[in-house]
Amino acid sequence: MYCRNVSNPFCSLVFRLSLTYALCCFFSMLVVLAICYVFLEASLQRRMHVDMVNEVSEYRSLFELQSLSVLKDVLEKEAISEGIHQVIFRILDGAGNVLVSTDTSFWEEIPAGHEAIQTALSGQQTFMDYQADEGDFSARFLYGAISDQLVLQLGVSLEENHALLRQFRKIFFAATLAFVLCSILAGTYVAKRSLSGVQRVTMAAHHIAAGAWDHRVPLSSYNDEIDELANAFNDMVDRIQVLFRELRDVTDDIAHDLRTPLMRIRGEAEMALRETRDDSLTAVQCGSMLEECDQMLQLINTMLEIAQTEAGTQVIECRPVDLAAIAEDMCELFRPASEDKGVELRCSVEAGMKIAGEPQRLKRLVGQLVDNAVKYTLPGGQVMVRCMREDNHFLLEVEDSGIGIPDTAQEDIFGRFYRVDASRSEPGNGLGLSLVRAISRAFGGDVCVTSEEGKGSTFTVRFPLITGDTVC
Ligand code: ADP
Repeated sequence: MYCRNVSNPFCSLVFRLSLTYALCCFFSMLVVLAICYVFLEASLQRRMHVDMVNEVSEYRSLFELQSLSVLKDVLEKEAISEGIHQVIFRILDGAGNVLVSTDTSFWEEIPAGHEAIQTALSGQQTFMDYQADEGDFSARFLYGAISDQLVLQLGVSLEENHALLRQFRKIFFAATLAFVLCSILAGTYVAKRSLSGVQRVTMAAHHIAAGAWDHRVPLSSYNDEIDELANAFNDMVDRIQVLFRELRDVTDDIAHDLRTPLMRIRGEAEMALRETRDDSLTAVQCGSMLEECDQMLQLINTMLEIAQTEAGTQVIECRPVDLAAIAEDMCELFRPASEDKGVELRCSVEAGMKIAGEPQRLKRLVGQLVDNAVKYTLPGGQVMVRCMREDNHFLLEVEDSGIGIPDTAQEDIFGRFYRVDASRSEPGNGLGLSLVRAISRAFGGDVCVTSEEGKGSTFTVRFPLITGDTVC
């Protein structure tokens, strides 16, 4: 079965395993019951034949010892005791004439069976099956000689056997149905149980893909194949994490080592600028060199700041901070630039809330979000900064009516150096939001975005509020 949609329950492995299990059980049950049925039918027939043959030889012995009239009485009594609708006895001569007969009123028609009479008189007992033209009456006859000229015709209705087999078929059908239902339930249970391990691995993979790199697949106590898979998966994630760390360390080391020679080049360009005439070519070149150096230093500093914040090595201070006041200050700081661009910047804050953090880094965080909002909003648009309380959390929202972010990029923008193609015309290096996320997480919070292309974006940072004496 090929399925496109895994969330469709009919496409799930649990469903397919249960179905396969139920089908296997159904067919095995069918085979077993069919074999039982065939054996039952054969054994009923065999028993009937033996009984009939025994009865005929019993009456032959009686006829040899007694007269025909005695035999007639015995046969009549026997027919009544077994049921006149069940059994008939007739004594026929070689021409098929009936000399003696028990009550045949319940029997629609009784075959004469001339051939069978002749065969019986030659010493060979013969069975004959009879099926009524209408209705479902059927019977079996045995022709057996009781003397040189006389043949005993014994007829037994097959109705009882048929009723028994019909009853069995009903029981078989009900048993098969119950068995299939039980096997579906058992199959679902077994499939769910055996796949719960795979689900553990899937859940862990989802968590890790969402950024929880420290998450691992929990192991069970069975030490089975799923645990082997989980172990292999965990080892793989450990290895990837180490490689990531090494790669990040190398990048941070390079950034760190570049900063000193860059500062030296900048210093020399500054000195050269001071010693040259303002309108000379050298002054222009030194000026552009200084600008380039400043941009590179800014990039390197941001990279190092992210690395230090993520590693937690430089969270020097951590104290109660009024983030709403910081947000108001940052709005004042960015108001002139936003007015120049023709973007309306508004701020609405709820006062009196404190979070645990470091003012300098929190200023960077708010500044970065407001800067981006103004940068990616076209003239005539609006930017709104809000600070509010939600349960035990402080929410900082920066909403703009700017260009928006495509759905596919909304998680990637928090990665280092990621920039959406549409915004490449604006200055930037793709590090701002990485820093925002690193700072949010360093103080126990997190950041997320909701956005629609062409309509705007809302960045929300959530921090735990300080309760009691808790500080960092
Ligand atoms: P940059 O220096 O490029 O602004 P950021 O890390 O701050 O780097 O942002 C990464 C990318 O996310 C940006 O290049 C831009 O494509 C997108 N982005 C960030 N903020 C917004 C916003 N408010 N509106 C639209 N796009 C944004």
